[in-house]
Amino acid sequence: MTKRDYYEVLEITKTASGEEIKKAYRKMAIKYHPDKNPGDKAAEEKFKEAAEAYEVLSDDNKRSRYDQFGHAGVSGAAGGGGFGGGMNMEDIFSQFGDIFGGGFGGGGQRQQQSRGSNLRIRIKLNLEEMINGTQKTVKVKKMKLAAGVTSKTCPTCKGSGVQVKIMNTMFGQMQTQTTCGTCHGVGKVADKIPAGANAQGLIKEEEEITINIPAGARDGIQLNVRGKGNDAPLGGTPGDLLVVVEEEADKLIKREGDNLHQELYVSFAEAALGTTKEINVVGGKVKIKVDEGTQSGKILRLAGKGLPNIEGYGGKGDMFVHINVWTPQKLTKEQKDFFQNQIDKGEMTAEPTGKEKTFFDKVKDLFN
Ligand SMILES: [Zn+2]
Repeated sequence: MTKRDYYEVLEITKTASGEEIKKAYRKMAIKYHPDKNPGDKAAEEKFKEAAEAYEVLSDDNKRSRYDQFGHAGVSGAAGGGGFGGGMNMEDIFSQFGDIFGGGFGGGGQRQQQSRGSNLRIRIKLNLEEMINGTQKTVKVKKMKLAAGVTSKTCPTCKGSGVQVKIMNTMFGQMQTQTTCGTCHGVGKVADKIPAGANAQGLIKEEEEITINIPAGARDGIQLNVRGKGNDAPLGGTPGDLLVVVEEEADKLIKREGDNLHQELYVSFAEAALGTTKEINVVGGKVKIKVDEGTQSGKILRLAGKGLPNIEGYGGKGDMFVHINVWTPQKLTKEQKDFFQNQIDKGEMTAEPTGKEKTFFDKVKDLFN
């Protein structure tokens, strides 16, 4: 699916002001809010699309990159943090605090609390790392509570963390208790702020984070590293680091859903006499037996040696080993004489019995 233009999504012009963007998004969010459109997938997609457009266009930095480079300019690079593939509902609802003053939450009784925002990065893994799991250390730029920051009671809410507001909603005027906009529910605000930190006492710093990738990871899955996102101001819970796995093409092993395929080359002599070979599978290596007289193109199926089902249904894919018999390309005089002798005597000739599986039979077998 091609991504729609963010301005088009919010139905605004390229010169829209920050206030106009906010207003347009508010309109879309109310129209497509899941509470108003229960079970409507199309509405949910529009809701997410609008949130993504708002996330980019409401940020001057991201907006100017988007204006210059389009979608490519804002799809997050590893370590850059922030914006990656789509947003999840939790991200969207946490963004609502800014838009609706915290009152118009999402998903029913969603508790608005002070929480750092999530960071999203991408990480490239080769198939072997995805199969066997691995550990990666990445450098992430994130907002951290600056050393030496002190706090005082929030002057707006006097420490309660909430404010009573009159809001004009689509249901008419409503009195709502909302999270305090000054302290975001913490009840405290920064007092002494060290140089370089922002008004909330947060400072941008690089941190090395080690990520454990479980065996059986998959292209596009998102791992959630709890508490490794941006810090929340003054005592809130830090956000999470969301790690999106990207698959790097592998020379030998190809993935097809949960199944894996690999090519195995055996020599002419090995195919004739039979042999055992060690190959990579999920969880390590296994030895497989290549029978005496194996034909090129034979496919061995190792049941359950593919990728574990990532949705956790307990199933496992299979590993298919495609055997290729390597015909010798350089022969010594002695070897040539041997083979010539076989031909002259009418030995080692091709003798298909008609029971050999054709290419199409093999493909059919794979699906049985
Ligand atoms: Zn407050």
